[in-house]
Amino acid sequence: MNIIVANKLRKVFGNGVELLALDDVDLTILEGEFLSITGPSGSGKSTLLNMLGLLDKPSGGEIWLKGREVSQSSSLERSRLRNKELGFIFQYHHLLPEFTALENVMIPQLIAGEDKKAARHRSEELLREMGLVERLNHKPSELSGGQSQRVAVARALANRPSIVIGDEPTGNLDTKSSEMVYELLRKLNREIKQTFILVTHDMNMAQKTDRILRLVDGRIVSEMRRENGGFVE
Ligand code: ADP
Ligand code: ADP
Repeated sequence: MNIIVANKLRKVFGNGVELLALDDVDLTILEGEFLSITGPSGSGKSTLLNMLGLLDKPSGGEIWLKGREVSQSSSLERSRLRNKELGFIFQYHHLLPEFTALENVMIPQLIAGEDKKAARHRSEELLREMGLVERLNHKPSELSGGQSQRVAVARALANRPSIVIGDEPTGNLDTKSSEMVYELLRKLNREIKQTFILVTHDMNMAQKTDRILRLVDGRIVSEMRRENGGFVE
């Protein structure tokens, strides 16, 4: 089943000189897909994620999310859909500085109406899988960049969003931590059919996903799909 369909997606930036950041992008993402997006700096990857994540409106084209066209939905409606359907892993992780790692992962669940005991249990479990069992009660200022990044991953997954969007989710991480993040995402992808859309420069990570899109100058220029262990165009 399709979970996201983009038709002729365009994004124009600019005051005076116009810049075409996305140029008629067509993209269909299946429920439970594990997709990576690559391409040079400035090719439109973040812009595409911002559109698919309903963080920004396209200048033209359509975005269908679970069968509904949402490209021009009101900001209130887009915010409702983001909270219900989407989880975000961005590099600038914006953890709440006053709260511990555990609390940072618990808070979105409490806001969504989960009871405190269940939220604590799930948060501990996610942080344990991220190798942070000894950091539960540390505040962000007491964590390294890589540890904060892994807390942000746990937080993005806390409410079991059907779609997880990541901009360089392993960008700050050493090989071992990247591997840990990948293993957790893949496990959730298999177990609860979560859909992942990740921008990454990490080719080691990209090659473990199911499909690799390459953007250049706001267009999808190639698409490779995993088949029988290898990739085909
Ligand atoms: P990538 O993520 O692949 O590095 P971006 O999506 O960030 O690319 O940017 C694509 C193009 O759009 C770049 O030329 C960038 O400078 C431009 N751009 C992105 N966001 C904005 C914005 N808010 N205002 C103006 N130009 C932007
Ligand atoms: P990335 O590291 O993913 O390529 P960038 O550093 O290009 O991201 O951009 C980060 C954010 O800054 C983008 O999501 C975009 O909203 C904004 N941005 C990028 N380029 C511009 C620009 N030329 N003018 C204004 N905002 C920009």
